[in-house]
Amino acid sequence: AAGHIAITRVSKYFGKHKALDNVSLELKPGSVTVIIGPSGSGKSTLLRTINHLERVDEGFIQIDGDYIGYRREGDKLYELKEREILRQRVNVGYVFQNFNLFPHLTVLENLIEAPIAHGVPREQAVARAYALLEVVGLRHKAEAWSRHLSGGQQQRIAIARALALEPKVILFDEPTSALDPELVGEVLDVIKKLARSGTTLVVVTHEIGFAREVADNVVFMVDGRIVEQGSSEAVLNRP
Ligand code: ADP
Ligand code: ADP
Repeated sequence: AAGHIAITRVSKYFGKHKALDNVSLELKPGSVTVIIGPSGSGKSTLLRTINHLERVDEGFIQIDGDYIGYRREGDKLYELKEREILRQRVNVGYVFQNFNLFPHLTVLENLIEAPIAHGVPREQAVARAYALLEVVGLRHKAEAWSRHLSGGQQQRIAIARALALEPKVILFDEPTSALDPELVGEVLDVIKKLARSGTTLVVVTHEIGFAREVADNVVFMVDGRIVEQGSSEAVLNRP
């Protein structure tokens, strides 16, 4: 099945600081994993390595057997060229804390830009964009300027944009932490809707209620290490 993530003995240093310390983790296709832990514990760094936005110093990461950022020849790994890395990233959507939409583009243009750049015919990209706007409940905003939307709406568009390339995996880095409290729910609702879609989701968040409701797997990080991992009941209901 598609979207199987295997993280094997990964370490990452920033200078002398070990941001990830021998992290191993296996995520099943279609599963929802929530990563929790104090600020600075390496959650964001771990997420970024899954997309090769950060290079690992030790260990390796595979999605459906492919080495992320590398190709294997014999028993050696060789880093991919930038163009090949970009092609590999099509399989892994990323949703940032601060939405990162193109403010000078309309909502529709934001959603079709990447697919067209990857060779999807315009008509097909537009049809898919409207279908995705339906999923996130913003079909009526197709022609709006991204910068005129509320934060919650912008983040729902950012999620639709991540879906536009039909990735096997979507990574969410604190997707609601930049939002006013009253807008958090509408974004979590969209992620909940995706939870049973077959896409593998990895969500860094402080929203424990969300974790209880939808996570198959909760990972608790401290100081670059996974100190606890299991079902949300097992990890979140400890005395
Ligand atoms: P979290 O997401 O859990 O808050 P991060 O992964 O952002 O933690 O950071 C883990 C540690 O690595 C922190 O001590 C942070 O300051 C450090 N760090 C993260 N990114 C960099 C970087 N680009 N350069 C230097 N240190 C970094
Ligand atoms: P987050 O926890 O969401 O990653 P941070 O404020 O820790 O947010 O980091 C924001 C950005 O700054 C990230 O790109 C991170 O890699 C970088 N960063 C974090 N800590 C350091 C650091 N000590 N030195 C340099 N860059 C850092």
